[in-house]
Amino acid sequence: TAKKMGGNKVVVFSEQLRKANIKRPQLEARLRKAIENELLEVYYQPKMNVKEGTIFGVEALLRWTDDELGVVSPEIFIPIAEETELIQPIWEFVMKTACSQVSIWNRNRPIPLSVGVNFSARQFQEPRKMVTMIEEILANNELRPDCFEIEITESILLNNSREIVQSLRTLKSLGISISIDDFGTGYSSLSYLKDLPIDCLKIDKSFIQNIEEDYENSEIPEAIINLGRSLKLKVIAEGVEKEYQKEFLLSRDCCLMQGYLFSRPLNKSDFEEYLRKQKEAE
Ligand code: C2E
Ligand code: MG
Ligand code: MG
Ligand code: MG
Repeated sequence: TAKKMGGNKVVVFSEQLRKANIKRPQLEARLRKAIENELLEVYYQPKMNVKEGTIFGVEALLRWTDDELGVVSPEIFIPIAEETELIQPIWEFVMKTACSQVSIWNRNRPIPLSVGVNFSARQFQEPRKMVTMIEEILANNELRPDCFEIEITESILLNNSREIVQSLRTLKSLGISISIDDFGTGYSSLSYLKDLPIDCLKIDKSFIQNIEEDYENSEIPEAIINLGRSLKLKVIAEGVEKEYQKEFLLSRDCCLMQGYLFSRPLNKSDFEEYLRKQKEAE
């Protein structure tokens, strides 16, 4: 119903806040405390190659559990963090935690996992500093740059300043992959796909969830798959929940997928359990 009312984020935001009777400044203060007290946790959602039946990577997704509010969705607190300076320590925390964790997991894997981290526009305000920090974190954790992926939305590319483009090229030259998240929902022109060093399109989950049992409403995902193929980009579908959505994607030769059908985002120990089970199944 939230969707039907348009702009679901706002609805989710006010519902949870109304129930808790909490106002935005209080929420911001709580978030600040949560960062100081290390109450944020990184969850991991597997990225599957469904054709091969393997996990090739993970996406790092942040979780915040507040004493009183319970689990607060990142859809609520990330926008607040982005409006304040809080997104910088949050980003550093996610980077360090996810890179060191995946590097540890990779010690036991013949083929290493790649780790995707979501980047906000703020990170690109000082692109050179950002690139230096990424290099440092990868080196400190002995994570290969080709096992690291940044997920950005089209909106970041709207402001395609020379400095941002340059920093993307630098990242690419280091071997880091760049994915466009929520692809198809932004407002930017498509020309950047040819001009920028993009590796992968992530089809927004709203398009995947619209696909029906008889493959009705599959035109947009199909068009994105074809666009990706023409431009020689990887394409991954996010939000795959139903068997028939998976079958549709496979029938169009799109075998990279992410979604509840395979696994929800899991905390460290649950993800380790998931990896163990996956190994047994192979
Ligand atoms: P996103 O990067 O597009 O992440 C995908 C979202 O879809 C995640 O929501 C994930 O839990 C959810 N999802 C995955 N599979 C399914 C599915 O099959 N069905 C449904 N209904 N949902 C699925 P989540 O974790 O609530 O994160 C929401 C957004 O918050 C993310 O969208 C991302 O934009 C932002 N976010 C999360 N963690 C971070 C972070 O560390 N840094 C930044 N800057 N943003 C983050
Ligand atoms: Mg993402
Ligand atoms: Mg997305
Ligand atoms: Mg999103």
